[in-house]
Amino acid sequence: MNDICLNLQNIQNRIAQVCKKINRSVHDVQLLAVSKTFGPDAIAQAVTAGQRTFGENYVAEAVTKIQHFSAHRPELHWHMIGSIQSNKTKTIAQHFQWVHSVDRLKIAQKLSTYRPELLPDLQICLEVNVSNEANKGGLAPDEVKPVALEVARLPRLQLRGLMCIPQPAVDFEVQRKPFALLRELFLDLQRAGLPLDTLSMGMSDDLEAAICEGATIIRVGRGIFGARHYGKPHDET
Ligand SMILES: *Cc1c(COP(=O)(O)O)cnc(C)c1O
Repeated sequence: MNDICLNLQNIQNRIAQVCKKINRSVHDVQLLAVSKTFGPDAIAQAVTAGQRTFGENYVAEAVTKIQHFSAHRPELHWHMIGSIQSNKTKTIAQHFQWVHSVDRLKIAQKLSTYRPELLPDLQICLEVNVSNEANKGGLAPDEVKPVALEVARLPRLQLRGLMCIPQPAVDFEVQRKPFALLRELFLDLQRAGLPLDTLSMGMSDDLEAAICEGATIIRVGRGIFGARHYGKPHDET
């Protein structure tokens, strides 16, 4: 078995262990493999090991990979998780199945406009700035409900839930806090009548804390593909 296959097994084991401890079904936690900066070979290894959903941050890089796999692997699903520039919304709407990083109404409106009618609805999560960081994308917690109610009404989009990228922390209890906040916001939207089912939270170093707070999608990069090397400049200008 190669490294990527072993790493995937290791992550699946971590998911299984924490789910067992807190009595959640492993089937309620989906593993999104974050393949940014890694090429088709690494992705193909993960596919061979059974992985079907991939997360990408940079639009041009992602589209190259999506097109590479589209003919032979139409069952792969691609999730946009990186920060979104308005001039990339058309390309995103044409190529991805999910977008986790919608952080303003204008972006959602453009995705709705550009989503091709022949494709299924684009699945949407709103990104929330849970750690209150000044230079970070994401809606402030008090903006979430008004924006969610608007996004839920847009055609060709389906609002599924919330996403966050908290400040990294080592201590488990510290890791849990921002995830707990995202879960509270999520429950509040459900109480407001929105049929949401997705909490996208938890990465390589904090997935256990996220699962304990109800994560339904965890986004793992380094834990599967190893360290990233940002050699080439990206397309985002
Ligand atoms: C890169 C990235 C991840 C994966 O992070 P790792 O620490 O490599 O697991 C998850 N979510 C987002 C939004 C990312 O940009």
